[in-house]
Amino acid sequence: MIIIMKHGATASEIANVSARVEQMGCQVHLSEGEERTIIGVIGNGRPIDHERIERMSGVERTVPVLRPFKLASRDFHPQNSTFPINGTTIGGDQIIVMAGPCAIESTEQLMETAQVVKAAGAHALRGGAFKPRTSPYSFQGLGEEGLKLLAEARKVTGMPVVTEVMAPEQVPLVSTYADILQIGARSMQNYALLHAVGESQRPVLLKRGMMSTIEELLMSAEYILSHGNQRVILCERGIRTFEPYTRNTLDISAVPLLKQLSHLPVVVDPSHGTGHWELVAPVARAAVAAGADGLIIEVHPRPEEAWSDGGQSLKPHRFEELMTSLKAIAAAVGRRL
Ligand code: PEP
Ligand code: MN
Repeated sequence: MIIIMKHGATASEIANVSARVEQMGCQVHLSEGEERTIIGVIGNGRPIDHERIERMSGVERTVPVLRPFKLASRDFHPQNSTFPINGTTIGGDQIIVMAGPCAIESTEQLMETAQVVKAAGAHALRGGAFKPRTSPYSFQGLGEEGLKLLAEARKVTGMPVVTEVMAPEQVPLVSTYADILQIGARSMQNYALLHAVGESQRPVLLKRGMMSTIEELLMSAEYILSHGNQRVILCERGIRTFEPYTRNTLDISAVPLLKQLSHLPVVVDPSHGTGHWELVAPVARAAVAAGADGLIIEVHPRPEEAWSDGGQSLKPHRFEELMTSLKAIAAAVGRRL
């Protein structure tokens, strides 16, 4: 349920209503907008006496929230959530581009990629150190060694870094190196992992599972939010369909739909969403046109030599061209790069 306070409700009226909600054994989530305050109520499974709340001073009305996600929902938090990542803000006017290799392979490969994506205007560096590979015989990532290289690239370029964490016990280690913790598509419903990143102090990039619905994605975000971490970025990265020409089918409608249902920032991954470098730039442009708050894109200096996902990685000059073309698209939808 949400409690909509009257325009101009006083701080003591808000405090009284919050105290009453807590007395009922429920949790309070305050959202103070410019116009009015909204009090989100997370129930304890028992019916809430909304009429008793509606009689309190300063209350305009109560509205039941029928959707299963609460903290992630726009009803609870009508304004877009924005939060800073190393000086840039995600969820605001600016489109945030995270770019880099699928996997960290070596100092040279990572440094070269970091420099070129930075020069092209990327805001954050991506790179996997713990790789969730379909085959146990594929390259599994450099592990902590890769995280150290990532930290080095961050020191040299000043860019924040995003990298995947695959297990709850890895969260403290990955958090010491990464600015943003990535939850991969295959881990979207690893609830122990969601719980662990929910208790961490780092923003989380939560990727949609390849066979997950929008509601399941938002319920996974709800796990993180309900464990105390409010900095969650949702990521559409394509889902499985019957279409074999693309690696996944990127669900472009997920972007406006997630923005409608939730206040959380939404980013799109056109690399895993398509699986082919030729499709990455057009789909990235479509994502920005559809209202995405950011992109995460695989770039490799020599994709033909990449240890993973070479076929969907952009060469540096193609990434640069993409960044240039995105500026015009961003401006056309009232945003900026
Ligand atoms: C990745 O970002 O390299 C990755 C493995 O993505 P996903 O979890 O979306 O497959
Ligand atoms: Mn990849």
